[in-house]
Amino acid sequence: MSEKNVDDKGLPFGLTRFLSWVSLILILASSVLLAFFIGNSARNTLLLRQQQYGMLMASNLNQQIYRRFTLPTFLAFGRIALRQTMQYQQLDDVVQSTILGLHVESLRIYGADRVVNYSINPTELGRTDLTPASVERVMSSGIPYFETLSTVNMLSAMFMLKLPDGSYSLRTMFPLTVDLGISESTGEPESLVTGVLEITQDITDDYDSVVRFQWLILATCLGSSTILFAMLQFFIAKAERTLAERMARNRKLEAELHQNEKLASMGRVIASIAHEIRNPLGIIRSSAELLIRRTPEQEKGSATQRILTAIHDESCRLSQIVNDFLDYARPRVPRQDRVDLNALLNQATGFLEGEMKRLGVDCLRDVEPSLFVLGDKDLLYRAIYNVLVNAYQAIERDGMIRVRGRRRDDGMVELSFHDSGPGFPPDLLPKLLDPFFTTKDHGTGLGLPIVNTIITAHNGRLLLTNPEGGGAMITMLLPLADLPGEREDASGEGNEGPDAPLTLTDTLPSENETPRHGEA
Ligand code: ADP
Repeated sequence: MSEKNVDDKGLPFGLTRFLSWVSLILILASSVLLAFFIGNSARNTLLLRQQQYGMLMASNLNQQIYRRFTLPTFLAFGRIALRQTMQYQQLDDVVQSTILGLHVESLRIYGADRVVNYSINPTELGRTDLTPASVERVMSSGIPYFETLSTVNMLSAMFMLKLPDGSYSLRTMFPLTVDLGISESTGEPESLVTGVLEITQDITDDYDSVVRFQWLILATCLGSSTILFAMLQFFIAKAERTLAERMARNRKLEAELHQNEKLASMGRVIASIAHEIRNPLGIIRSSAELLIRRTPEQEKGSATQRILTAIHDESCRLSQIVNDFLDYARPRVPRQDRVDLNALLNQATGFLEGEMKRLGVDCLRDVEPSLFVLGDKDLLYRAIYNVLVNAYQAIERDGMIRVRGRRRDDGMVELSFHDSGPGFPPDLLPKLLDPFFTTKDHGTGLGLPIVNTIITAHNGRLLLTNPEGGGAMITMLLPLADLPGEREDASGEGNEGPDAPLTLTDTLPSENETPRHGEA
């Protein structure tokens, strides 16, 4: 992924994150609208159904009243007079039996004089103040009329746990007619509107269901969009982390590449200079050595001999520095032999024994027998040698170096050197593997970088720690060589025995050289 996907704040997927927020807001807004529209359409459907139901009820009642009350009363008494208790009672019987079991909140009949002539609530009889304006309209048009009555507005209804009974009602105004037979002029059936039947149904429960339905839609949309949004955010965060890690890795690799290029070019310059220096230096050192040997007995300790010794020692030290430079500047690809670590430790401690004895430093070894690693004997010798020299130089006088070696379960060998010196300066730990970093007056700062280069070239790892008990500990993790059956199968140059002579190249200090930094 390119760096173009990183926004100004350095956050990758910034645009995607922004878009996901925008889409969440859009989804939320559309959920609210959707819930509103669906709820509205459900309410309209419900009203239509209730109106049809009201119409049906009213026309049935009209029929029943006409057949079971108006007609028989007319035939029996010649006129309708609801003030007569008997007639009123008869009408009431017809109405009550017809609406029995139906959800009717109130039922009134308004006469042509707009007065309440009949009501299922007898206290309303004769009242004119209850007559709605729509009575006039139905009387004159003869067409049914519907009204929705509410005591709670729709918005507040949304936030009520349960709507109070009677919050929503549907009022059906139905004309009560008397058939006048077929019109002579038009040939159409004629009827006379004698009153208006008003039926009020409580539809609160249905409204309540619509409100709950709206909430259900809203909650479903909100829930699903929130889950989708959370998933999107999770994946974006994960992708961001991965991208950030990759970018950090790339940056590190780029920096390493840059550093390596710098070091490579520096190494080439150093290597050519060192090459030029090494030969004359060898001549100076061997000439000084020859002159020292040829100094007559009586001149031993004279100023001339002291100068010669200084020339010899300094040329040895210079020669070591040159070798260090060359080792670091021209790292070679390690061979893949089976290398006996015990043999290497024998060689290295044997070589440094005299110097360690002089400083009072003991070397204790606790290394598993037959511990073989896969690698280059000469380079590994050099690494061990550098670590041991650093260790006794850090101890300065009277101390101990503990060398431990063991196989690990992950197919690696762990070889550690724990000295009783002051330990690594904690604040400098991150810099100790940088080339040319030294705290010593005569140090080159190349010892540990060389060790690190050698170990990593062996696909191993180098760890620098200050253990709890004090001192410094250097741990080398190297690939184990003696995997099951491999020891028997190993052959050729990779199968040299532990005691095979070391074929040291210019990576190794010669017997004439002092240990690193000329501390001998
Ligand atoms: P040099 O020995 O020339 O200084 P190195 O790369 O070998 O270069 O070491 C770098 C620095 O690491 C040393 O100067 C020293 O400060 C620190 N160091 C190395 N080994 C030890 C040790 N065993 N104990 C304490 N400090 C150490």
